[in-house]
Amino acid sequence: TMISLKDCDAIGIDMDHTLCRYKLSEQIELGHQALAQYLIKEKKYPHSLADPVLDDPNLVYCGGLLFDEENMTYVKMDENGKVEKAAFGTKMLSESEISKMYPDNMKCSYFDDILSGKLSEKGSYHLHDNNFDLIRTVVHSRMMQTADSPTKKQVFDDLVAALAYIWDPKTSVIFENIKSNPEKYLHKCPNVVKSWLKALKKKEKVVFLLTSSRCDFVKHVMDYCLGNDWQSYFDVVISKAKKPGFFNEQLPFQLVDPNLVCVVDGKVSKLERNKWYSQGNSHLLHEHLKVWTGKESPKVVYFGDCVKSDIVPVKLHPNNPTSDWNAVYVMDALRGIEGAVNPLSEDEKRLLFSESFGPVLKSTDGAGMCKSFFCKLIEKYATIAVPSVEYVASRRIVYKYTRLGKGSGFYPDIPIIILHKSQVLVSC
Ligand SMILES: [Mg+2]
Repeated sequence: TMISLKDCDAIGIDMDHTLCRYKLSEQIELGHQALAQYLIKEKKYPHSLADPVLDDPNLVYCGGLLFDEENMTYVKMDENGKVEKAAFGTKMLSESEISKMYPDNMKCSYFDDILSGKLSEKGSYHLHDNNFDLIRTVVHSRMMQTADSPTKKQVFDDLVAALAYIWDPKTSVIFENIKSNPEKYLHKCPNVVKSWLKALKKKEKVVFLLTSSRCDFVKHVMDYCLGNDWQSYFDVVISKAKKPGFFNEQLPFQLVDPNLVCVVDGKVSKLERNKWYSQGNSHLLHEHLKVWTGKESPKVVYFGDCVKSDIVPVKLHPNNPTSDWNAVYVMDALRGIEGAVNPLSEDEKRLLFSESFGPVLKSTDGAGMCKSFFCKLIEKYATIAVPSVEYVASRRIVYKYTRLGKGSGFYPDIPIIILHKSQVLVSC
């Protein structure tokens, strides 16, 4: 029931919000503004949409919030799928209002589907599970407040159009801003992380970067966070990986020229160390990890911050070689625990926790406290949950972590703690 990096043969790391940490409040406000400005300009929404995110701190929440498209509600479920809290627009619903919307004992009908790994279903629901999702909640809630009931569907369609616009690399002001002002949005990787990466390589572990970000963005972010020699920290770099597709589809690898920062070979069937690739798939990667580690069943661990793209898909398909990988969930909320490495700033706390929705890992049912749905989801798919890569890098490679389950596996502390915005965060 313990896991140690010493026993792992290959270590993979995601880039955004994992190896490279963002200044959360700056980055979320940047995305929020991009979204709001598009909707004000193109879809004629009121200018109040662009008021700062932190004007509505109760609406933002770090994980596990479900958008239910049919009821147009943001929902927090407990471990049994019962809707514990729900918001419509900027307004929290009462228990009797929730009962009316969810007549089956207040149970959300998507519970089983989501728990089985389908975190998003077009036209039905979307589980918010990462920091990029935080960008949309406040704008969306304000949009619903300004619209009359027959146009609620239109509101969601407008939001989807705006999201497509702000994440389109051709039109995105988000990527351009981060590239031109990295110091405003990114933390540099501390020396302890750099030494840790080097030490892992020195111990003959295969170290790989696996990110869905595009080549030119990867170069900008890595140049800034790790330095111009960033490629030397990895045995192989994979960008534009289209996670979760990387784990369950069979896209070919493409070779990236590090000087030109573009694809120079569109289809590669054999990988080499010290190269940079684009797209690809976990099956072929795993075959090469066997060769590079010299082991028939190499032990692989992958660090990621996005439950949908990094944690669930690794474990989802029993026939996929990655189903034996260990997924380390980098969970910013855990930086709220007293004594955590990289403690949350006050603004970050206001963004990640909500008085209205309550603790992230806990829910209240009639009998008292139980696990939140999000807690159950993480325990099902992740191996351990940590506040940051730096937290792991600061410990010895031989350190033995207790796996998730039975209240263990959340670091630096177990989830008996009530992760609540205004509370002093203490462990029991
Ligand atoms: Mg990420």
